[in-house]
Amino acid sequence: MAALRGAAGAAGAAGAAGARALLAVELVPCRADNYVFLLRVAAPAAGGGARAGAGAGGAPGGAEVAVVDPCDAGPVRERLGQLGWETPAYILNTHHHDDHTGGNLELKELWGARVVGPRADRDRIPGIDLAVGQGDTLRLGGAEVRVLDTPGHTRGHCAYHVPEARAAFVGDTLFAMGCGRLFEGTPEQMWSSLQKFLAFPPQTQIYCAHEYTLSNADFAISVEPGNKLLKARIEREAGRRARGEPTVPTTMAEELATNPFLRPGELGVRAGVGLGPEAEDLEVFTAVRAAKDRF
Ligand code: FE
Ligand code: ZN
Repeated sequence: MAALRGAAGAAGAAGAAGARALLAVELVPCRADNYVFLLRVAAPAAGGGARAGAGAGGAPGGAEVAVVDPCDAGPVRERLGQLGWETPAYILNTHHHDDHTGGNLELKELWGARVVGPRADRDRIPGIDLAVGQGDTLRLGGAEVRVLDTPGHTRGHCAYHVPEARAAFVGDTLFAMGCGRLFEGTPEQMWSSLQKFLAFPPQTQIYCAHEYTLSNADFAISVEPGNKLLKARIEREAGRRARGEPTVPTTMAEELATNPFLRPGELGVRAGVGLGPEAEDLEVFTAVRAAKDRF
C-alpha cells in the first residue's frame, strides 16, 4: 500500500509556511483500513525555553516524535526505522479500541514512551501513564498539543489538536464525509464533540484513523444528491483510491462543504432525512446518524 509522507499544512494551508516546517506526519497503514500516524515536531525556536523531560525521546529541547493510535507495533517499528526519526516520547491514544491501542505495550517497552489516553477510559487503555481530558496540553518539540474530549464513538475519546501546525488527530470521531459510529455514546455527545472541530480554522488538516472515505461517500450522496461540491469530491477521492493513495488527511473546509454530519443546517441535508427548516440541528444530526446505521 502506498505510504504518504507529508508536512501538515502542505496542502491548501495558505499562510501556514511556519506550520509546514513545524510538524511532519507519516501515515502508516495498518490492518484492513486503519491509519497510524507518526508525528515529528521540530525543536522549539532558540530561546523558547527548556521543557520537561518526556521519557526516552530526544535530547531536551530537540525535535520530538509521537505516535497516534498504534494499531499494531510491527508496521510502526518498521516505518520509524526507515524514517530514522528520534525514539518516540509519547504514544497518544484517542480511544480504547484494539485497532487503536494494539501496539501500546510492545512499543512502550521498546521505546520507554509514555502512553497518553482519555481519562474516562483509563481502565481500558493498555499501559496508560497519563490520563488526559479537555483542556490538557502536552509539549512535543516546539509545539503544544491540546487535548479535546470528544466522546460519542466510545465513552472516553480524545482528539489531539496542534493549533500551530493546523492539524488535528481525531481518531474515530470525524471521518472524510462521515462520523464515528455511536458504540457507547449518545447523538448529543457526538454532536457536541463535532462542534469542537467546527471551531477550528477551516484549513485545519484532519487526520482520521480509518480509510472509510468511499463508503462514506455513497451514504453522503444518498442524503444530499444535489450537492455539486460533494459530487466533485467523490470523483477526486475515487481517483486517489484507484491510484492506491490515501484520502487522509482531509480538511475542515472539505468536510464543511461535503460531510452530511457537519451540515445539519442545510435544507438539502434536512430534506434527505425527511426534516424541514423547523428542526433543531441536533435532531437533524441524530436522523443522519440513524440513517447511516441503516444504510
Ligand atoms: Fe474505534
Ligand atoms: Zn477505529
